[in-house]
Amino acid sequence: MAWERNVVIKNQAELEIMRAAGRINALALQAVREAIAPGVTTGELDKIAETVIRDHGAIPAFLGYPGPTPYPATINSCVNEEMVHAIPGKRVIQEGDLVSIDCGTVYQGFVADSAFSVGVGEVSQQVRTLLEVTSKALEIGISKLRAGNRVGDVSAAIQKHVESFGFHVPREYTGHGVGRKMHEGPQVPNWGLPGRGMVLRPGMTIALEPMVLIGTPYTRVQADQWAVSSADGSLTAHTEHSVAVTDGEPWILTAV
Ligand code: MG
Ligand code: MG
Repeated sequence: MAWERNVVIKNQAELEIMRAAGRINALALQAVREAIAPGVTTGELDKIAETVIRDHGAIPAFLGYPGPTPYPATINSCVNEEMVHAIPGKRVIQEGDLVSIDCGTVYQGFVADSAFSVGVGEVSQQVRTLLEVTSKALEIGISKLRAGNRVGDVSAAIQKHVESFGFHVPREYTGHGVGRKMHEGPQVPNWGLPGRGMVLRPGMTIALEPMVLIGTPYTRVQADQWAVSSADGSLTAHTEHSVAVTDGEPWILTAV
């Protein structure tokens, strides 16, 4: 994609719609989060998200998304070594699992895109650290989404935080602009150099999504051609918000 030619600045009315889409997406993710427990299948979580989205007059954004095959579900449900894009189904959540849920909603023509990772029941100290680092990476990245900063300032801040714990960010999967399309410009990698890349402007809307791997930066696409796992099978986590750049503070569109 020609990322830099696909930057769309939104006006206030459009941002309000994106906020409404983001709230619905947040409610869907909140319902999924509350349902995550040992014995629940990822397919059941998918139905919960779809129901919340449709009950609000919105549409699942991932459903039918073009790929090797049209994406068949509402959420991505990743467990442990799975990082992004895993299709929900019969997999049963177990005590101690690390679960990452990504969800998208289309409302009045605009997309919201957000994700979270959570530990199930008692998890290891390593999982707790990974979850904290991933959440903090998103928080730090969002704090850099300010008019006048450059994309590289955001990317570098995320990378620096993650790598300071000896963890890794993947190179092949990135954050992105979001709006009428799920993927617009600019591309926002989780690695980069400060002072480089596009200057951020008010009205840009960005789905910022740190992905963190414990073992190496390398990933592997699974046999279904959708799910992406860490290449070495080690744990990964993923968190995401759609955020508007404003004249002042960044505006998180996908918060509850
Ligand atoms: Mg997402
Ligand atoms: Mg995204």
